[in-house]
Amino acid sequence: MKLPTIALVGRPNVGKSTIFNRLVGKKQAIIEDTPGVTRDRIYGTGSYYDYKFNVIDTGGIDIGEDAFNKEIKMQAEIAIEEADVVIFIVDGKEGITTNDLVVRDILRRSNKKVVVAINKVDNKKTMENIYDFYELGFDEYINISGEQDIGMYDLLDAITADFNEIEEENDDSLKFSI
Ligand code: GDP
Ligand code: MG
Repeated sequence: MKLPTIALVGRPNVGKSTIFNRLVGKKQAIIEDTPGVTRDRIYGTGSYYDYKFNVIDTGGIDIGEDAFNKEIKMQAEIAIEEADVVIFIVDGKEGITTNDLVVRDILRRSNKKVVVAINKVDNKKTMENIYDFYELGFDEYINISGEQDIGMYDLLDAITADFNEIEEENDDSLKFSI
């Protein structure tokens, strides 16, 4: 049976790999402090209550601004082709950037379910930034800290709620269970 697939999409350094490791429960993706290292995407599986799912860290890739457009198109392609749900990760510490808007535009065109994860919400200063992200125009925003393990259950609730919808609306081939 095919497991539902979650893709982690977002510009470099927002915390995709950190969150991937949380979702799969081990340190599989490498967390990068310095941009410029390119790697293949990483697949893992995670579970939450009765749900089991595949997770794709689309950017085992940290790149400079020049390569951003190419990289984000590749990420979006993966999300469009392979994912049932996209977690669009943004950096609450840095606030919204023009590259977030590029990601937003591509994801909106994909017609996939998108949950926005505002990451690095682990101090007061970051809390002040979170409302700015609502202009991205998606339905769901979850405040998280991948590093401090805050909000991951809220994120998983949002993701698995979406799986139920997929199960109800479609045929048996999309059903999933452990
Ligand atoms: P990626 O490029 O999107 O995969 O991001 P990484 O997971 O490699 O993380 C980039 C940087 O952000 C690293 O220095 C992480 O330690 C840091 N980081 C990730 N999650 C958090 C978080 O929740 N809070 C804070 N303060 N830093 C984080
Ligand atoms: Mg990464």
